[in-house]
Amino acid sequence: MQTEYLVIGGGIAGTLISYELMKHNRPVVVIDNTSAVKASTVAGAVLNPVNIKQWSIAKDYRQYIAEALDSYASLQNLLKVPVISEIPIIAFDAPATREDILVQPFLHNITEENAVLINNAFATPLTTKIIAPVSQIYAESLLNAWQKFLHTQNAFLSERFEAEKLSITNGIVVYKDIRAAKIIFCEGVAAIQNPWFNNLPFTKNRGDALLVSVPGLPEKFIYHYGIRLIPTSNRLFWCGTNYTWNYTNLAPDAEWRNYTEEKLSRWLKIPFSVEDHIVAERPTTAGQQPLLLMHHSLPAALFNGLGTKGFLIAPLLAKQFAKQLIGWRL
Ligand SMILES: Cc1cc2nc3c(=O)[nH]c(=O)nc-3n(C[C@H](O)[C@H](O)[C@H](O)COP(=O)(O)OP(=O)(O)OC[C@H]3O[C@@H](n4cnc5c(N)ncnc54)[C@H](O)[C@@H]3O)c2cc1C
Repeated sequence: MQTEYLVIGGGIAGTLISYELMKHNRPVVVIDNTSAVKASTVAGAVLNPVNIKQWSIAKDYRQYIAEALDSYASLQNLLKVPVISEIPIIAFDAPATREDILVQPFLHNITEENAVLINNAFATPLTTKIIAPVSQIYAESLLNAWQKFLHTQNAFLSERFEAEKLSITNGIVVYKDIRAAKIIFCEGVAAIQNPWFNNLPFTKNRGDALLVSVPGLPEKFIYHYGIRLIPTSNRLFWCGTNYTWNYTNLAPDAEWRNYTEEKLSRWLKIPFSVEDHIVAERPTTAGQQPLLLMHHSLPAALFNGLGTKGFLIAPLLAKQFAKQLIGWRL
């Protein structure tokens, strides 16, 4: 099999860089270990303009949002599956007044109808505000549909890439029966073991989320009160999350789960049940800088370090990086 770009990893990084390269009519083959846990499908995947902890505009939002909305809408159009939709956040811990003029346009008062909804479902006297517009990305739907699309182009392999089987000789990338002009690593946290890009400033962290059934809670909002309840396509709410920097394994964090269940039982008036507990690692870096790297002497590149806001920043970065890769001569 002959291609121009061999992409390793089918999370949001690998999906968007392969999409951008294909938009420029560049042949691409993606290899993804589809049976492994990926950050992209454990994520909340919300594009929220407001940093609710500080009640300020979210870092990077204005720089990245336009391209993010454009890319996800284009992919939705191409793949004909749900990829993005607008969904307001009901924030339960909003300050009563807010002076930040950048945040003001995104804050709205609760209507009477929604106040009834809140009173029926939640036991809270706190100040509530609506944050809008906010977008939710249907990551699983997007990634699966993109893989199917690549399959139709004979451009997808569902398997684990084995580094020891790769050779890069005389500027040619050879992996098993694939010959490529360039290889692009988009392996998320697995890049820590990448022998071609070592000593990178990765500071990965892990995040837990619960999948919660809350019959009777309307799915037209995200609910935020320190933790978030985000409706998912399988009628469950994604509930999370935490940031754990020191850990030795990816076993579900029982202490965090107890804390979260306890918080939910104080927050919600209506019954709920926890159906699943999921965990993934975020590929973060020191200084929270994404990594868009081209090897100094080999036709190998790396797109990684998307951190806590991968779904917001990856679309613009992928567009820019694809252009650089196309013009890249060693
Ligand atoms: C709990 C949690 C909540 C989050 N919430 C948000 C949020 O609300 N908004 C937001 O923007 N971001 C959020 N994030 C961050 C976001 O998930 C990441 O920034 C993003 O998903 C990283 O994407 P990635 O493609 O780099 O990595 P991944 O999604 O991990 O993808 C890497 C892919 O590479 C594959 N791979 C690795 N090694 C190999 C190999 N040897 N062979 C084949 N395939 C391989 C893996 O199988 C995987 O499919 C959250 C993350 C977590 C964990």
